[in-house]
Amino acid sequence: MLAKEFQQRFVDIGVSLINNAYADSYKVEDDQVSLKLENGAVLKADILVLGIGLNPNVELAEAAGLEVGNGVIADKYLQTSNKHIYAAGDVLNYPDVIIGRNRFEHEEQAEYSGKVAGRNMTGAEEVYNHGAPLSYTDVLDISIEGVGEMSRNRDDAIIEEVAGGYIVYYLFKGKPSGILTYNVKVDMDKAREILVNPPKTLDELTGILKPI
Ligand SMILES: Cc1cc2nc3c(=O)[nH]c(=O)nc-3n(C[C@H](O)[C@H](O)[C@H](O)COP(=O)(O)OP(=O)(O)OC[C@H]3O[C@@H](n4cnc5c(N)ncnc54)[C@H](O)[C@@H]3O)c2cc1C
Repeated sequence: MLAKEFQQRFVDIGVSLINNAYADSYKVEDDQVSLKLENGAVLKADILVLGIGLNPNVELAEAAGLEVGNGVIADKYLQTSNKHIYAAGDVLNYPDVIIGRNRFEHEEQAEYSGKVAGRNMTGAEEVYNHGAPLSYTDVLDISIEGVGEMSRNRDDAIIEEVAGGYIVYYLFKGKPSGILTYNVKVDMDKAREILVNPPKTLDELTGILKPI
């Protein structure tokens, strides 16, 4: 429902969306870009923006002999397989207290993990427990925030309408695994608390988070 509304906002301002299409190749001719799709269709444009994701840059860590996988593997203190080297930010793969071992690409994660890694380098021995980093985006006049697991590992969702916006509770094995807000501002630390200590029944989920 929200995905449809989100897409419609773009359609309303004249954007054509082509879903379930994969790019095959592109070429530039006479200052025009031609993008060929896998289904054979060719799209012509003045500008092509490639949004194709990223891979963590682990070569330096590998060369230093650190354990790498999806990013640089670290423990709950953000200490890598070499106890003198710590990892933080996008490259960090660590055991998140809410989601489990994972790697995130979010500004908030980079900030918090950087601070903890820094403190631990000076002997703090602090467990990194800022679980489920906040992701956010603002597009058109839509503001979205989320914590937890919102894309994979979910089998249902509860949508609560609040103050003209929505709160979505993603569920995995009957428990909230992620919380997303759509055009409503709530205390996201409280949302994190719900993921750590969910109410006994799903009926009690809605109404906990209040608009601020
Ligand atoms: C287009 C885009 C949009 C984004 N939007 C959002 C958003 O809306 N919300 C959000 O929360 N996050 C967003 N992010 C993610 C956010 O920018 C990152 O999570 C954050 O910048 C990660 O910080 P970092 O310090 O770990 O890595 P980076 O900011 O990538 O910094 C790593 C630095 O290390 C340097 N480096 C790499 N290899 C070496 C080497 N061998 N030697 C020396 N230096 C090296 C790089 O040049 C770089 O300066 C976005 C990212 C992109 C690309």
